[in-house]
Amino acid sequence: MSDKRLITVAHGDGIGPEIMDATLRIMEAAGAQIETETITIGEKAYLNGYKAGIAPEAWDALRRSKVFLKAPITTPQGGGFKSLNVTTRKTLGLYANIRPCASLHPFIDTKHPVMDVVIVRENEEDLYAGIEHRQTDDVFQCLKLISIPGSEKIVRYAFEYAVKYGRKKVTCFTKDNIMKLTDGIFHEIFDEVAKEYPQIESEHWIVDIGAAKLADTPENFDVIVMPNLYGDVLSDVAAQITGSVGLAGSANIGDGFAMFEAIHGSAPRRAGQNLANPSGLLMGAIQMLVYIDQADVAEKVHNAWLKTMEDGVHTYDIFRDGVSKEKVGTKEFADAVIARIGQEPQTLAKVSYEKGSKPIEIKIKERPEPKKELIGVDIFLDWRVGGPDELGDQLVQITEGTLSLDMITNRGVKVYPNGFPETFCTNHWRCRWLSADEQPLDYSAILALQTKVSQAGFDVIKTENLIKFDGERQFSAGQGQG
Ligand code: NAD
Repeated sequence: MSDKRLITVAHGDGIGPEIMDATLRIMEAAGAQIETETITIGEKAYLNGYKAGIAPEAWDALRRSKVFLKAPITTPQGGGFKSLNVTTRKTLGLYANIRPCASLHPFIDTKHPVMDVVIVRENEEDLYAGIEHRQTDDVFQCLKLISIPGSEKIVRYAFEYAVKYGRKKVTCFTKDNIMKLTDGIFHEIFDEVAKEYPQIESEHWIVDIGAAKLADTPENFDVIVMPNLYGDVLSDVAAQITGSVGLAGSANIGDGFAMFEAIHGSAPRRAGQNLANPSGLLMGAIQMLVYIDQADVAEKVHNAWLKTMEDGVHTYDIFRDGVSKEKVGTKEFADAVIARIGQEPQTLAKVSYEKGSKPIEIKIKERPEPKKELIGVDIFLDWRVGGPDELGDQLVQITEGTLSLDMITNRGVKVYPNGFPETFCTNHWRCRWLSADEQPLDYSAILALQTKVSQAGFDVIKTENLIKFDGERQFSAGQGQG
């Protein structure tokens, strides 16, 4: 039996096959003990009728190896095609997306000479749950789902990563001044977990000012943990301001499964011309080598790559007159890295990876089940007959047991009772009924109320139960309410 570690490889679309070939050649030359099994994903799979971009048998290969090195693919637009990246991350439970972004000043042109940031992006939840509906002819919704276990896993991962790689600080970005429940719980869990790591500095920024500071003074950041959407956007920003998105790789980590890739896409316009920079995929592959306990090979590849960067051997995307020395294609770049295996950078810091270290494994806390009480319902209506007062005056007549109308909002703003005539209203109304003194209800009361609303001729588009956990309301107030 071979000592080689089985990995699944997909060559992808566009520039994918060229950068994968370069990456595999470099790893092999550095002595990587890997055996590859190739699967087809992306355009070819989509064209063969697999709407998820992957054939069912490819999952078996992934289950066998549990490690996936993936080149970028082209996601066809429209036509019901699902992003394979999102599907793979979620199907395999790859909850942590790790994107190191470091500048290589003075060898790569960058606005930020001092920058070494690792973005830890939550990879499964948030708006990427992909649950979207058109609810009225005017209004569309996308559900933002944030869970306690999901938040705890990613926040713990960020702190464990900081410990493992000798990082000093973990920063959290959220928008919890607006999304008090979803981003609020992510922030709360961050504060809770941070207390267990007193040796690591921790801080939180509202994402808008945090993003501005990251783009302006990245030297003040170290590890940054974020919910999915902010992490997706800001890891591209972080990579680009080091010099190029083509320089950053990413690891997608789950429990016993991992996928490694470049952060950029398939750049179809550059395909087949021996132009693309393979560095992003190579950085992903280096993270893979560390993950499969071949840290010595990872170190050799990384240091040879740094030396190549220092020597000014650059692909077109990072080539700058006066800074770079030789403009090369994908193949020649790989040859240049291979020629430097065994060498170390002279000016840039050399990299070393701990040998024999195990991948980070996260265990989450057991939490007591809270006491749950149903105290009301939001019924969403598609209604276009008149204004908020007219709607409110009709709905206030509809009661069920102790349930009575509390308020109506339109796009989240309270419009009844006592709305403002200036507020613009769509045909999408959230109508809130609460029980008297917030007494616990049986769900049958909610069903009976819905039936009455429907029988009164209203078009019910959805309902949302109003819950208290351990006596605390777990739903947002209307904007302008109370
Ligand atoms: P892209 O990242 O593919 O390319 C944007 C531009 O960046 C390119 O035109 C090119 O100038 C440059 N670039 C990117 N990678 C480079 C490299 N390695 N070397 C040199 N230059 C490079 O983004 P896009 O054009 O928005 O997307 C193209 C396709 O890729 C789309 O179908 C998209 O869905 C897909 N995509 C896939 C992944 C993935 O597979 N992980 C990620 C993002 C986008």
